[in-house]
Amino acid sequence: MRIFLKSIPMLILGVVLFVPNVFAANSVTRLDGASRYEVAVNVSKQGWSSASTVVVANGTAYADVLTAAPLAYKYNAPILLTESSKLTTPTKNRISQLKPSKVIVIGGTISVSNNVVSEIKNLGVSTVERIGGRSRYEVAQNISKKLSSNSKAVIANGTAYADSLAIGSYAARNGIPILLTTASSIPEPTKNAMGSKGTTSTIVVGGEISVSKSVYSQLPSPTRIGGNSRFEVAANIAKKYYSSSKAAFVSNGYTYADALAGSVLAAKQNRPMLFTDAGSLPTATRAVIGSNSKNTFTVLGGTISVTTNVVNQLKNVIVGKKVFVDAGHGGYDSGAVGNGLKEKDVNLAVAKLVNSKLSAGGAIPVMARSTDVFLELSERVAKAKSNNANLFVSIHANSASPAATGTETYYYTKYEADNSKRLATQIQNRLYKALNTQNRGVKIGNFHVIRESTMPSSLVELAFISNVNDASKLKSALYQEKAAQAIYEGIIGYY
Ligand SMILES: [Zn+2]
Repeated sequence: MRIFLKSIPMLILGVVLFVPNVFAANSVTRLDGASRYEVAVNVSKQGWSSASTVVVANGTAYADVLTAAPLAYKYNAPILLTESSKLTTPTKNRISQLKPSKVIVIGGTISVSNNVVSEIKNLGVSTVERIGGRSRYEVAQNISKKLSSNSKAVIANGTAYADSLAIGSYAARNGIPILLTTASSIPEPTKNAMGSKGTTSTIVVGGEISVSKSVYSQLPSPTRIGGNSRFEVAANIAKKYYSSSKAAFVSNGYTYADALAGSVLAAKQNRPMLFTDAGSLPTATRAVIGSNSKNTFTVLGGTISVTTNVVNQLKNVIVGKKVFVDAGHGGYDSGAVGNGLKEKDVNLAVAKLVNSKLSAGGAIPVMARSTDVFLELSERVAKAKSNNANLFVSIHANSASPAATGTETYYYTKYEADNSKRLATQIQNRLYKALNTQNRGVKIGNFHVIRESTMPSSLVELAFISNVNDASKLKSALYQEKAAQAIYEGIIGYY
């Protein structure tokens, strides 16, 4: 028995020792479902165990329901989705579980038929209220009438669905009506809504293609939150209102049902809605995550809407971090030359691999050079600075007498000394193992690029071009790949 007990810690220790590279990870919760109807149900389960009011909207025709989030939030109501002609089974079951006394149906009978209303009543719901209108603009106006008084209004393009959904959480949380416009003129229902609400200031969501300068100039005290894409608009909303929040919702930027259902939950949790492509996080989304150090994500939808790759990027602690990858030398400056190698070529080959690993991993890498060109050292430093790089990693290969061999990584003490040393250590401890070279250690080096760069910075000397054995590794695609992986993992290890 005694022996048995003693062996347990040994076993645990063994497991820990043989699991390489267990990195810290961001938290990602996926609210999944076999259909948009099920996703909405699962969103409601995350936020509500019961609800006195439920909002029901068409799951495929969004125009009417874009502006419903503030209303749903006011009544602490989850948004469930339906087909037009009949109530979908998951939605029906969920209404039965939530036992609301009231259901608010959004849209006219084309969006949600009277048959659906009958089905809802048959579930024992005493009041079913329909908020309709002859157009999306009028539906938005009618929804605004149900909200408490507010001197602000959100104005978004009625056909740019993503913009309304991106602001939904904020508008809902703050009781601000979302009103819709066309790009070139303000529809009458929207004018009337602003008139009767006494709107004195407006938040305009979307760029000038969505809401023209002409419309903008007709609005009361407008402030624009624009962007060059739906991803950037959502990111700019998150930046403006949620910069101190470490959490965000993430949904597909092109399939709106999940974001719609998720908007009220996001409002309840006071979190922004960010958008993604299905396969990979867009740069604008990465950037706001990185600059606000967000580390807790609720992903809406299944793996077709938001792939596992996106989830892995969100989990990765380097997500959105800007890493400057500096391939040393270039152009007429070959760097060290020997054993059939030019240092500039080795540096660039490894830098490109590091760059693509960082990009695939969710970071925002910036390369000093991606071709065989010359850059002054000061230009490299300036480029990292102008890109607001979080880290600077310079890649070089060494040269000395033929006997000199091994891997070393440098940092400098002028700026971010501790973090620079930590970065260098994280890289070095992986790099010499990956290359199976002598560990020459982490050193202080007075090199221009790491001395003058103000962010945490380190400079790796992969191995010696002047040494036959080292050079054979530097020449090898396999070892270049290993070196890049070690540098990449060192960067993750730093975070
Ligand atoms: Zn060099």
